[in-house]
Amino acid sequence: MLLDGEPVLLLCSNNYLGLAEDRRVREAAADAALRWGAGAGASRLVSGTMTVHRRLEQRLAAFERTEACVLFGSGYLANQGVLGALAGPGDVIYSDRLNHASIVDGCRLSRARTFVYEHCDCDHLSWALERGRPEGAGAVIVTDSVFSMDGDDAPLAELAELAERHDARLVVDEAHATGARGPGGRGAVADAGLEDVVDVVVGTLGKALGSYGAYACADRSTVRYLINRARPLIFSTAPPPPAAAGALAALEVLESEPALPRRLLANAAVLRTALTGEGWTNLPPDTHILPLIAGDAADAVRLCERALDGGIFAQAIRPPTVPEGTSRLRLTVMATHTASELRAAARTLAGVARELGVLAPTAGREASPAEPPATAAPQRTAITA
Ligand SMILES: *Cc1c(COP(=O)(O)O)cnc(C)c1O
Repeated sequence: MLLDGEPVLLLCSNNYLGLAEDRRVREAAADAALRWGAGAGASRLVSGTMTVHRRLEQRLAAFERTEACVLFGSGYLANQGVLGALAGPGDVIYSDRLNHASIVDGCRLSRARTFVYEHCDCDHLSWALERGRPEGAGAVIVTDSVFSMDGDDAPLAELAELAERHDARLVVDEAHATGARGPGGRGAVADAGLEDVVDVVVGTLGKALGSYGAYACADRSTVRYLINRARPLIFSTAPPPPAAAGALAALEVLESEPALPRRLLANAAVLRTALTGEGWTNLPPDTHILPLIAGDAADAVRLCERALDGGIFAQAIRPPTVPEGTSRLRLTVMATHTASELRAAARTLAGVARELGVLAPTAGREASPAEPPATAAPQRTAITA
């Protein structure tokens, strides 16, 4: 991309599959603008519902293998709407410590009591559920499926088991998994075979699907309930037709090109292997989100600026988006990167990180007990691009 007129390699976009600039997606959005207009003109519940919204909802329900689907203005609004509708004062929401800010705010909006369990810690969650809840109180467990800032996975199967055992609803936010995980990019819930178990799947159209807007998929009665209770849906204008049509086209591209998500993960393996070879440790496996922890916020900013001088655009992520002391460059891989771009990026990033003392000077160049030697064959087998 061009950043202030300078060509740089983009390593911090959520447009994971490059669909935002796919010709078919752009044309569908442009056609929709000409055919249906720039905006929907009203809330879905008044006069804003258009053919393209219905089509997209049907298509998304089929994609997620659920009975029904309802669109929201954005993922942020979807989490406000779903949590606000499913829980109220007197209920309890159990939320992972590293859940996305839109989930945190959704918990607040619901006015339910919120129990924050330690990150991916099912023992902690189980302990809280065992303690019970007031007579008549409903319970909701909510989690990101792929965590936005760390790239790691929620223990979905265990969460589903706990939800079942304690009669709690399970809401899973697939913002970073849709288009990136599972069979045909159908997400982490599909990957775990939990489509029939998860109560509500939230997804965004703004990341891998390259558009804007979001959705909640569930059984028919839950979706009907959301339509009648989710305030960010009821009291807000329906998504613009070009955004909905763009997302619909992106979904068609994804379904016709199952190699796209595979390419994304193959690229992620290339970058992870290159970074590991340069001495970065603790990178999460099998994910397209690779955090390079700098620690201090100022160090993360310096790392970002120096990387930019080297032609790499990876934005510094600081508190409150991430916990204090874990400021980082959150690298995100795209299916449209080439392997050589990613290897060169790893070299550049390692070079500036060593200069700044964020990465040990010779790390990765010597075999340590914790790490295989740089020539170890197993790492290379990950490269399939
Ligand atoms: C980005 C994100 C959202 C918000 O989605 P938008 O459509 O961008 O508003 C919600 N949840 C998670 C986990 C996210 O990463």
